[in-house]
Amino acid sequence: MRTIQIEGKYVQDWIKEYPLLNELIATKEVFWSNPKYELFQTGIEKILLNENDVKDAEERLKRFAPYIAKVFPETRELNGIIESPIVQIPSMQKHLEEIHELELPGRFLLKCDSHLPISGSIKARGGIYEVLKHAEDLALQHQLLTLQDDYSIMDSEQFRNFFSQYSIAVGSTGNLGLSIGIMSAKMGFNVTVHMSADAKKWKKDLLRSKGVTVIEYEEDYSKAVEEGRKHANSEPNCYFIDDENSSNLFLGYAVAASRVKKQVEDMNITVDEDHPLFVYLPCGVGGGPGGVAFGLKLLYQDHVHCFFAEPTHSPCMLLGLATGLHDKVSVQDFGIDNITAADGLAVGRASGFVGKTIEPLLSGCYTVSDDELYKLLSELVDTENIHLEPSALAGLFGPIQLIKEKEGQEYLQNHHVTDRIKNATHIMWATGGSMVPTETMEEYRKKGLELSRKKN
Ligand SMILES: *Cc1c(COP(=O)(O)O)cnc(C)c1O
Repeated sequence: MRTIQIEGKYVQDWIKEYPLLNELIATKEVFWSNPKYELFQTGIEKILLNENDVKDAEERLKRFAPYIAKVFPETRELNGIIESPIVQIPSMQKHLEEIHELELPGRFLLKCDSHLPISGSIKARGGIYEVLKHAEDLALQHQLLTLQDDYSIMDSEQFRNFFSQYSIAVGSTGNLGLSIGIMSAKMGFNVTVHMSADAKKWKKDLLRSKGVTVIEYEEDYSKAVEEGRKHANSEPNCYFIDDENSSNLFLGYAVAASRVKKQVEDMNITVDEDHPLFVYLPCGVGGGPGGVAFGLKLLYQDHVHCFFAEPTHSPCMLLGLATGLHDKVSVQDFGIDNITAADGLAVGRASGFVGKTIEPLLSGCYTVSDDELYKLLSELVDTENIHLEPSALAGLFGPIQLIKEKEGQEYLQNHHVTDRIKNATHIMWATGGSMVPTETMEEYRKKGLELSRKKN
């Protein structure tokens, strides 16, 4: 490690310059507030994407709604719009206050992307959106479709035959592969998913049962993406969904914001200067949380405070943002192993595109240990009867870190919200879980129970 240079500087010199790296290397739980966070009006000017791009994505999803409703009956209740519920979790809030001996003011809401239809994770937003966009582009180019058509015509042999001339590829730790595999196969594309070592067997089995080609790697996510990209480039008519660099994925995720705003309004919850909103988003490569945070900032501006959550063993976004190195650095460069039970977050190198885009609008990041994720998992089952996968619990640790850690308290003071936190709404983004097989979920829960018992 000592002889490794990153951007012309030795690892130990980076550590000297950024003492936080010592804690990251020791895989401690940390809270980091972003020194480059800005007021919305100036921050947004640095970003190339804008609200029209998000609107465009929203309109596209509306055009596809009749098709989605037709081919995925579970989406009919919402007329083919892929959306998840948001629920209050007062029992969990009370429980967390008790075990952490901490007052956690404000209202706790859980955004249940764990229960998104089709693929049961936040990837049912960005991943599916990008497949649909690609399908629409192809069909428009070949004059098989106009923007005014009822898109349910795509559920036909004619369209499936057409799409079967094309292929789609993606690299994934599991959930993105699930979303893109299921959607692409449904439309008739040939689809290949390059899976990292973290990917769970049940996810690969499920995809194969739907006719998806799954290629497995013994390395981590970055390798799966790299190989997938190479493979796709060598094949004619193959479209590679690039999780590390895709503005389409990002915009597909960003559409979540206007839907959440409506849900929050329907619950008669106010968000304004006196009623701040805090949002905690589990982060892997960054597209999901980045897109959602971007969408929320466009709507709520300075009244929303967005934080990313990462496992202590995979803090790639925090590392990239804190050092300014973005995708030029991996956690492995600093001897951090990128091994975590949170498979959806097991990413060693963050997206440079997302890090640079979200930098002026992101309030901060924090890390959480696997043990804590398992404990939160079993506690959420016991208090609210909600089942999430380990990655998805990372958001629930946010308010604890924000209120307990010195850096968190400083953030609140610096942004004049210390006195208003009693009026706050906290949204923890529960990013996945409903597709986890029952036995696997039971094992997770047992593990959490054992860990809770050990501690108490
Ligand atoms: C992918 C994923 C995330 C994070 O999304 P990124 O776009 O990789 O940052 C969070 N939770 C779960 C369950 C996921 O599958």
